[in-house]
Amino acid sequence: MARKLYYSDSYTTQFRARVIDVKNHNGQTAVILDETYFYPTSGGQEHDTGLIDNARVIDVIESEDGEILHIIDGNLSHGEVECQIDWDRRFSNMQQHTGQHILSRAFEVLLNCETISSRLGDDVGTIDLDIEKLDYDKVHEVEFLANQIVWENREVKIHFVNDSEITKFPLRKPPKVSGTIRIIEVSDFDYSPCGGTHVSRTGEIGLIKVKRWERVKGGLTRVEFVCGVRALRDYQIKNKVSNELVALLSVRDLELVEQVNKILEAQKEKQRLINFLTEKLIEFEAERLIRDSEKVNGVNFVSVSFENRNIDELKILARKLIQNPKTISVLASKFGGANFIMARSSDVEINLREILNEILNSTGGRGGGKDDFVQFGGSLEKFEEMFKISVDRLKTKIS
Ligand SMILES: [Zn+2]
Repeated sequence: MARKLYYSDSYTTQFRARVIDVKNHNGQTAVILDETYFYPTSGGQEHDTGLIDNARVIDVIESEDGEILHIIDGNLSHGEVECQIDWDRRFSNMQQHTGQHILSRAFEVLLNCETISSRLGDDVGTIDLDIEKLDYDKVHEVEFLANQIVWENREVKIHFVNDSEITKFPLRKPPKVSGTIRIIEVSDFDYSPCGGTHVSRTGEIGLIKVKRWERVKGGLTRVEFVCGVRALRDYQIKNKVSNELVALLSVRDLELVEQVNKILEAQKEKQRLINFLTEKLIEFEAERLIRDSEKVNGVNFVSVSFENRNIDELKILARKLIQNPKTISVLASKFGGANFIMARSSDVEINLREILNEILNSTGGRGGGKDDFVQFGGSLEKFEEMFKISVDRLKTKIS
């Protein structure tokens, strides 16, 4: 089996090795080396990428029997090869991983909560804590402790111990394996059984920052965090957004939330005013339409077609119209198709649903409603036909 050199050295990125097997793994080419620094996805940490000779390493997997499979994009023959690990990706993974250990310990020290599980994804890392509630004050306090450990540039040591020696270490969590246990010590602060790649001094992490948190199943709280290069990128984005908003809204950054709330409040107030004025306008319109309406057998018969009024406006207008006694209205609009509202005042005793069925049977389309108020419509090509039939049928009924 390949020697797993990444367990004792996180920093070697260039090495020579011997290919001992090339095989098919789920349709992909998997290379097995006699020894490797390529880290396989495990323990919540993402795999390395890089090159073996000229073939790109796109995934690294540890098989169930402990073999390290380097999945490559390309071909490779047996013999000596030159290997190169993508350092930017590896170093970021190291920053995230050691950062996670420190953050988990800081939560334990200050808030007495345990990290139940952790994940170091491609964009952010997460830890699931057995705590019900977090707030900014608590999180900021934890961040300060975690970053204090970073700024003190403490040594990060790797211990290989057997089961009997393990009691010498105040482990944050019990090991998941037995036999030889690998313990990562953040000097005098945290001791965790772990197989991941870590920085050798905490200063290399740069910064540990919590982004957000949320409640998840099992009464846990999931905390999203970023370290090092990811924290810098995150700060760059946040700073850009904040500066742009400050320029747009002409306030200081601490006043942004208050200012946006004011704008939203003002917008709501304007919408209320628009609704009020629209209703008033429609009232006047309804009065004029009643005054100018055709009189059919003592009934105000209002039929109007509009080019682009939405159905909600038609409804409001129809309701205003039928507040007048002895009134029938057919309102139509071509806005987004053929739209119709037929309505009558309560003292005109005809069943509009029956008339609607007759109209739909003859022209197609869809619709529904109550005996005194129906809405219907169809394709735009049917607009004129539907409008004409509606007016004709209604007039016949009341004549
Ligand atoms: Zn770990």
